[in-house]
Amino acid sequence: MATKWLDDISNIDGVEGVLICSNTGRIIEKISKVLDDEKLESIALNLLKVISANSLKGQIVSDMEIYWEKFHIIVKSSSQFLLVSFCTSEGAQSLLRITQNVVLAHLLEDKKFMKIVKKHIVVSSITFPYVVVLSQDWHPSNHSSFASNHMDKAPFELVDASYGPQVLWPDHCIQASKGAEFHSQLDISTAHMIVRKGFRTEIDSYSAFFENDHKTPTGLDGYLRARGVCEVTIVGLALDFCVQYSALDARRLGFETTVITNACRAIDLDGSLTAALGAMREAGVAFN
Ligand SMILES: [Zn+2]
Repeated sequence: MATKWLDDISNIDGVEGVLICSNTGRIIEKISKVLDDEKLESIALNLLKVISANSLKGQIVSDMEIYWEKFHIIVKSSSQFLLVSFCTSEGAQSLLRITQNVVLAHLLEDKKFMKIVKKHIVVSSITFPYVVVLSQDWHPSNHSSFASNHMDKAPFELVDASYGPQVLWPDHCIQASKGAEFHSQLDISTAHMIVRKGFRTEIDSYSAFFENDHKTPTGLDGYLRARGVCEVTIVGLALDFCVQYSALDARRLGFETTVITNACRAIDLDGSLTAALGAMREAGVAFN
């Protein structure tokens, strides 16, 4: 079905690849001779950013053509998916435009294909300019990251947890206590989602994406993708722990990531701030 239509595009001389991606940047179908999935997904996410920026300005983008490296990229967008072709030959472009129009029309009429597309969409994302997420430590009073729950241990000492070394902290953010509340001057009314983390006794969670085993998800990745988010900006506490872990996970998951350092504060235990900034820079986190 969809691949038959993609064949029609990819058989045009000079066309190097064609893909269909959902409005959350996931590749639904593709034929590519030259680019791997990771590259294709990053192109798709960047195209979505441009489209999203234009829709913020009230322009509905249905067609877009850009040059990238050696490729001329022609994009047709419906509200639910993008049809993207990579072409290296000038001569192929007019035939490609016509073929893409035909294919787009057929895809929109193809009930089976649209069913697959809908599986990739929870909320139409292109019209949402941004998503606000707050994270909230939500620890039980017997939480394993509290020094007070370990014999003869003081805050900021290290212990070996099953998932690796864990810093011990003073008691903080105990569920439903005053200490777990957001700062009174933070306007939480604009938040779309609050991610509570660290609520399992045996495991701490610095990152807003994964607990400290780096495996147990909080669900934030799925939420952001479902909302069409491809770019993440992080502020808050602490720069060298929760912000760093969140930023590194965001990069690992493929989000463009910026940390606004002026809106963060670090704890800076034994050089942890310098190490965190280095690790984030290396992972491709931008600072603002
Ligand atoms: Zn905590």
